[in-house]
Amino acid sequence: MTPGLYTVTDHVCRECLGRILERVDNPAGGYRCSNCGASTVGAVESLCACGMRIDANADLGFRCEPNPKQTFEFPHEVVVRRRQAEDTQGAQQLAIPLR
Ligand SMILES: [Zn+2]
Ligand SMILES: [Zn+2]
Repeated sequence: MTPGLYTVTDHVCRECLGRILERVDNPAGGYRCSNCGASTVGAVESLCACGMRIDANADLGFRCEPNPKQTFEFPHEVVVRRRQAEDTQGAQQLAIPLR
């Protein structure tokens, strides 16, 4: 792992659902997955579930969000929800266990 100071974000890796860390000791910034090690010096959306796309333009509507109800069976701090334009409830929770 690249030495450095990181803070935890409310985003999870789109590949492995590990928490994304933000580098705080480098003016250039950068993000790194705490689980698989994927990293970027660009926007967090280039690593996390918010940035999942079918192609260059189609936003699938997935967003990383704090888990609104942590339980013993579902203790994850951050979950991925899919926002749908026609969904007035705002979000539909996915049955995917996330870290
Ligand atoms: Zn990862
Ligand atoms: Zn995200």
